[in-house]
Amino acid sequence: METAITAFADAASFVAGTYVRVLPTDLLRYLIGAGGVYLMVNLLLRRALAGRKIRDKSPDGVQMRREFWASMRTVAIFALIGSVLVGGGIKAGVIEVDAGIAARGWAYFAFNIAALIILHDAWFYWTHRLIHLPRLFRRLHRLHHKSYNPSPWTSYSFNVGEAVINALFLPIVLFLIPSSGPAIFVFLVHMMLRNAIGHCGYELFPSWRSGRPVFDWLTSVTHHDLHHAQAGWNYGLYFTWWDRLMETEHPLYHEKFAEAVRKPLDGSAVKALGGRQVV
Ligand SMILES: [Zn+2]
Ligand SMILES: [Zn+2]
Repeated sequence: METAITAFADAASFVAGTYVRVLPTDLLRYLIGAGGVYLMVNLLLRRALAGRKIRDKSPDGVQMRREFWASMRTVAIFALIGSVLVGGGIKAGVIEVDAGIAARGWAYFAFNIAALIILHDAWFYWTHRLIHLPRLFRRLHRLHHKSYNPSPWTSYSFNVGEAVINALFLPIVLFLIPSSGPAIFVFLVHMMLRNAIGHCGYELFPSWRSGRPVFDWLTSVTHHDLHHAQAGWNYGLYFTWWDRLMETEHPLYHEKFAEAVRKPLDGSAVKALGGRQVV
């Protein structure tokens, strides 16, 4: 009995110790990522980017405050699951995390980052489809979609269940793929930035003269913005391939992208104007 109590006290003190170290990193990631994109795109560059604004209206303060406080709860959940599952897994030797890149070399480092991002995209797409099922939507995903016109602060605005589903990805993938601290760091920075940018309301991705996205295999801001405008399409996080494979990409996605970058799609308007280029 006494050993069980000691073991429990040890585990509790380990989790508490890890939590106080992990919480500030999760918090800072959100504050710097969402706050940085909001400051740069939605405040400092808003006039310069006026020609790239996707919607006429901007989110109001009430919405952004709600998103911020919901995101604080998500940060606490991410840190808790990170401490218990990742920290506990590393301590128990079930999860391997190399301190540096040298242990497995640079080629593995590149593979490591790509694998984390590609697998996270798959995890996100399929769990996102799952939580859109009518029976699960209300409990798990409704809060995120309360932001009909999103802002960078929407990035972590999740119901508790959605936050848990998102947090479970890292322990599972780290169990499967031996990873290094620097690779996890790059993955998390990329995740936060793509997430905040995807909700910023301005199309920041480059376009061809034809009005098509230069990187059509990446989800643009318009791609995720359309998901908030009309749920039921565009479930992908980083890449467009799952939506295309499963035929869940919004049928008007390319038209909406061209509209957001103020270009005629595939020169359709050029033809209408007798061959004169309109850019
Ligand atoms: Zn959704
Ligand atoms: Zn969203």
